[in-house]
Amino acid sequence: MTERLADIEARLRELEATALELEPDAKGRAHLRESVLRHGDRFLESLASARAFVVEEGSGEGLLDAPIRDEGRPIEELLDLFEREVERPGLNPASGGHLAYIPGGGLYPSALGDYLADVTNRYSGVFYVGYGAVRMENQLVRWMAEVVGYLETAHGDLTSGGSLANLAAIVAARDAMEIRAADVPRAAIYSTAQVHHCVGKAIRIAGLGEAPLREVPMDARYRMDAAALGEAIAADRAAGLRPFLIVASAGTTDTGAIDPLADVARVAKANDVWLHIDAAYGGFFALCDGIREKLAGLREADSIVLDPHKGLFLPYGSGAVLVRDGAALRRAHDFQAAYLQDAERANDEPSPARYSAELTRPFRGMRMWLPLQLFGVAPFRAALAEKHWLARYFHERVQAIPGMEVGPEPELSVAMYRYVPETGDADAFNERLVQAVQADGRVFLSSTRVDGRFYLRLAVLCFRTHRATVDLTLEVLREKIEELRNG
Ligand SMILES: *Cc1c(COP(=O)(O)O)cnc(C)c1O
Repeated sequence: MTERLADIEARLRELEATALELEPDAKGRAHLRESVLRHGDRFLESLASARAFVVEEGSGEGLLDAPIRDEGRPIEELLDLFEREVERPGLNPASGGHLAYIPGGGLYPSALGDYLADVTNRYSGVFYVGYGAVRMENQLVRWMAEVVGYLETAHGDLTSGGSLANLAAIVAARDAMEIRAADVPRAAIYSTAQVHHCVGKAIRIAGLGEAPLREVPMDARYRMDAAALGEAIAADRAAGLRPFLIVASAGTTDTGAIDPLADVARVAKANDVWLHIDAAYGGFFALCDGIREKLAGLREADSIVLDPHKGLFLPYGSGAVLVRDGAALRRAHDFQAAYLQDAERANDEPSPARYSAELTRPFRGMRMWLPLQLFGVAPFRAALAEKHWLARYFHERVQAIPGMEVGPEPELSVAMYRYVPETGDADAFNERLVQAVQADGRVFLSSTRVDGRFYLRLAVLCFRTHRATVDLTLEVLREKIEELRNG
């Protein structure tokens, strides 16, 4: 017996010695921390001169030369590997020259917030074990609800991004409207051709793949035609269908258009249809005087998606869903489990786990709370308004390039334009133009097809994009057009 115990003790001593490598001491932590922070600082200092897009430096395959193995490697070697294989090649989303798709953010205090969230590893799923973490997230949810004009009955959840936030909202709509499996083939859904593709994905994942999906016509500025929406709903109802969900956009990804939210809301209310607004791109512009008015209809929505990793400049991994009747979000996601019986008491703050598909989740509040508290809201408001005016500035200035044709005046911060050469195929020319700009790499632009025509886009939403970047973009465009024209 004692011999067996001695054996176990010897084994434990040996295992503990190796397991302890997972817990560096103060000196070891300082070495790691300083190496990483120095690396991060160097990256940030180099940003002003760094290219927004780098094509020719491989695609990270060097990572495969360092397989995960039993022995560890020194931090210096790993940071070199990271810089060479991850940081450098491809798009640099931290760059102010990222003007494609919908740019993201990367506020520095968010990284420090994540650091504290991760080091303390606070649990933000259930109030009973993470009072402060849950209170903080709920406070942020309530703040966002105020930004969009919701009342106190609203609630929501911090998600990993807009796609999962849209999924949560659509699931809430499905359950609140009592759409059962047998109802799906009659449960009509309405949006425009400009709705984000993640909405279609969410509809399918939510088990609504067989629901009739109606593409509502748009006006000349790619906004939903509310009258046509009303007609489509009436026609479907007359045909025995059950219209249940409208998905409008507050800032389409392609053109930055805002659907006529108040008019759409009136149609939704008159027909008892759930109105979901995807405001992943545009929602936080409600912070800005002069733009807020265009987003006033947000408060009429039954559910809304925001993307703090876009409009609040946070690093990737931060979305949000808000539901006007918060209980509807809970009913769609609530759970019971015997081992969680201690977890709910009267008067508790709402627990995120009851409003979300997630149980254990990253403590997402810190990356948002820290910068909002440190800076206050004013610089966020100014930065968003600046992005709007930069897009308007570009829209004005780009027209001075001979042959340039522009889309509608930017409602938010996306501008559309195309170069029309005197002869030859304009679509092909613009395709070569966007490729030439990407190969140059000083700024990163993307393209789209609207009404069958090839357009270039400028999407300003990175907090590091200021006037000098837009001036540089105009210069690069002039230069590349000239080069392409001269063959
Ligand atoms: C970015 C975006 C999404 C998707 O959000 P992710 O955070 O990328 O998952 C949805 N809708 C709109 C309008 C967007 O701009």
